Amino acid sequence: MRRPDLRFVAVLSLVLGLASCADKGPKADLLLVGGRVYTLSWPDPDGDGRPADLAPYDAKNGWRPDAEVIAIKDGEILLVGSRADAQRVTGIETQTIDLHGATVVPGLIDSHVHLANLGATFDRVNLVGVGNPAEAIERVVARAAKTPKGEWIAGWGWDEGAWASQLPDMRVLSERVPDHPVVLTGLHTFAVWGNRLAFERAGITRDTPAPAGGEIKKDAAGNPTGVLLNNASVLLTRAVSAPTTDQLKGRVLSALDAMAKAGFTSVHEAGADTPLLTALEELDQKNRFPMAVYAMLAARDPALADPQGAALQSPMRRPWRLKDTSHLMRLRVVGVKAFYDGAMGSRGAFFLEPYADRPDHYGVGGAEYGFERDRMAAMMKAGYQVTIHAIGDRANRESLDFFESVIKESPETRNTRPRIEHAQVLSPLDIPRFAMLGVIASMQPSHAVEDMPWAETRIGAERIKGAYAWRSLRRAGARLAFNSDLPATDYSIFYGLHSAVTRTDKDGKPAGGWHADQAMTIEEALRGWTTWAAYAGFNEQEAGTIAAGKAAHLTVMDIDPFVTATKDPARLLGGRIVMTIVRGEIQP
Ligand SMILES: [Zn+2]
Repeated sequence: MRRPDLRFVAVLSLVLGLASCADKGPKADLLLVGGRVYTLSWPDPDGDGRPADLAPYDAKNGWRPDAEVIAIKDGEILLVGSRADAQRVTGIETQTIDLHGATVVPGLIDSHVHLANLGATFDRVNLVGVGNPAEAIERVVARAAKTPKGEWIAGWGWDEGAWASQLPDMRVLSERVPDHPVVLTGLHTFAVWGNRLAFERAGITRDTPAPAGGEIKKDAAGNPTGVLLNNASVLLTRAVSAPTTDQLKGRVLSALDAMAKAGFTSVHEAGADTPLLTALEELDQKNRFPMAVYAMLAARDPALADPQGAALQSPMRRPWRLKDTSHLMRLRVVGVKAFYDGAMGSRGAFFLEPYADRPDHYGVGGAEYGFERDRMAAMMKAGYQVTIHAIGDRANRESLDFFESVIKESPETRNTRPRIEHAQVLSPLDIPRFAMLGVIASMQPSHAVEDMPWAETRIGAERIKGAYAWRSLRRAGARLAFNSDLPATDYSIFYGLHSAVTRTDKDGKPAGGWHADQAMTIEEALRGWTTWAAYAGFNEQEAGTIAAGKAAHLTVMDIDPFVTATKDPARLLGGRIVMTIVRGEIQP
């Protein structure tokens, strides 16, 4: 993404104006002027999305910015106001940046990401658009030249659909890359292509049976040719060795770098197991994070996510539970992420009634899906924020039942701000329970527009009314947080806002939006990535709005999302991030 470097094009010195401002108050390190600043420091809109009386909005003229200047000192916001206010805080050392009408919003927070997975996508050999196997092999050869022998090389993007009538094989790949096991995943992930060493490491021979729904391609003599289809892919992909701590650290840093460029000032990692947590802790000790990282422990790692276990008793980890705000630039671990069911597309989500397109099938959830009630209840009682992945209406109901029962046993656990991740399909009876129990619905606007082609086929016309039901939840008083769940989806804030506001895909389809009565206003959408996400991460004292005394986490963009969403929401997709500021530092 290209970003004009405003630091150099527009650094002004206001030294000449100093004679007139003799007062001795604190002076800013950095002054942003000429911006369209939306502080979001006014009260929330009502359940129907109507802006509060104090919002910079009127029905006739729509939205307008509520400030034009932000002064920053020691990483905090010193002042928010007008150009006249700026005089008071301008000193000899103050650096001033003219934003030339760009829009400033509170620093964006993506409250559900998978950092190591995003980083891994950057590590892979990119095969998107290669015209033939020879071209793909050349790219792998180039990677092999800079990879230690014996280490796995992963690639992705050759088109298994376009090449289906003549699939590649392992012969040339093995000759050109003999010393590294290679696994190349197809564009749509329905096929993998490997070399001889990879097949050896995976133990795939002529005698290996293909799993149900999968195929091992074989030659006339019965030997594997090098390509595995559908469910057989896992025979190869599961053999890829786990990344080392150094590799994980590299992936986390490249992911955070990409997130900073995309305007984010904080992320919530949705499930750190022991290896990832080790990588995060080592980065934290070296102060390597470009932004605050809030990590949820992975419940599927019982050695880690157990309040009685040794892993959480270590003195180093004790401050986590204090929700300490003294070192906010660093790793914070306040939560634990569990799964209650699977996904709807593959019919793994857990429903009260059978799937519309597969009678007698309800999906699987709860203990059968690995949810350990007692351990999670103990985590909640130990002060952790328990976050449960729940997609189907039954998974959501039972997750709410779980929270209700723990809160009944220990009323103070309500303060742990429990979350349900996705809250994708809800029974109308359960929607009011989010507000009643103080459970945050952590949702992905992009999922609605990506799932709409098949979602109704899975669950039918009646249940779909409770799917991605942002408006119903808001009307019932629930707290929401919006996020991307990257890397499975595009994490661009402009795509996120567009999905939330229009409920259409990137081509604007369907016209008028899919179940558009559930769409959000632009204010609600933006709050989902700022104010409300800050609350979901126990961070609202320092982030989420632009106000004096808060941390200087700011996102600058080249479109005014409030005006654009009102006038021509399709143009939201054309927005670009101009600058990301974390604790007063402009991110590279
Ligand atoms: Zn996720």
